[in-house]
Amino acid sequence: MSARILDGEAFASQIHRETASRVTALAQRGITPRLVFIRVGEDPASRAYVSRKETRAKEVGISSHTMVLPESTPLATLLREIDTLNADPKVHGILIQSPLPAGLPNDQVYARVSPAKDVDGFHPVNFGKLLLGDPTGFLPCTPAGILEILRLGKIPTKGKHAVVVGRGQIVGRPLAVLLARKSAHADCTVTLAHSSTPNLPSITRQADILIGALGRPHFLTPDHVQPGATVIDVGVNRIADASNPRGYRLVGDVDFASVQTIAGAITPNPGGVGPMTIALLLSNTLRAAETTLS
Ligand code: NAP
Repeated sequence: MSARILDGEAFASQIHRETASRVTALAQRGITPRLVFIRVGEDPASRAYVSRKETRAKEVGISSHTMVLPESTPLATLLREIDTLNADPKVHGILIQSPLPAGLPNDQVYARVSPAKDVDGFHPVNFGKLLLGDPTGFLPCTPAGILEILRLGKIPTKGKHAVVVGRGQIVGRPLAVLLARKSAHADCTVTLAHSSTPNLPSITRQADILIGALGRPHFLTPDHVQPGATVIDVGVNRIADASNPRGYRLVGDVDFASVQTIAGAITPNPGGVGPMTIALLLSNTLRAAETTLS
């Protein structure tokens, strides 16, 4: 058996088309959504991520700009730049590309972004709204993108057992809450596993929907998977690869080649969760701009 592929690129294109058509409608009312990226330092992966997001933004008609600050930027300077963007009515979304250089406190920086422009969904207000089920908040893009993969991939969720491996702040923890919500395309029974979970395979094998969000290359193998389960691979991990000009390649948390032979459906990696994260970022930005009309 070979699993059905949950094609994140195709699902993301569908969301981009919807975003683009709403951007056009908004332009007719005189508003072009604008997204500003702040990148601190020259981390090569961050440069690549931001440039990919900028390209997609342009494709859907969202105007974007990247503010590049030196690695040595003091906290006070960064916070001042965020305040300026918060106060600029032409800017609808602000994204601070992670990782920030060591020494800049993530929580303090993310919390400085106005919740109304926090299209990444990391601000404590938006996190609180997620917990409360308040739809006026912005959902974090990766967990929201995974829910969209399940919806567009027509994966049944109601009453299903979802096991999320990894309780990180950006993916695992918010995703567990979203999957447990009493709503369409969620309503799962959720287990949130982590590095202290004993006998992990015995738990993951109970999953109808298994999500790897732990950041360990090829960690989840057929031993962890119930035959027929849906497997979502969030991980982005660098492994050495002498045959690649960069000297490394990126792989997921799931050992795709072996797991796809027993899973019912599976995301490729790359080409699964990553494109959906960008799609949800742009749809959040559009919504931030639309909200200024109400
Ligand atoms: P994180 O904050 O470092 O969290 C990792 C989690 O995995 C922690 O809860 C950790 O447990 C758990 N873990 C680590 N080793 C484990 C093991 N052997 N068994 C069980 N659990 C284990 O990471 P993150 O920010 O959530 O990111 C997770 C992965 O997703 C990374 O590879 C990241 O690059 C990727 N990611 C992808 C996207 C995308 O768009 N595709 C977006 C965001 C993140 P403890 O809590 O006990 O330490």
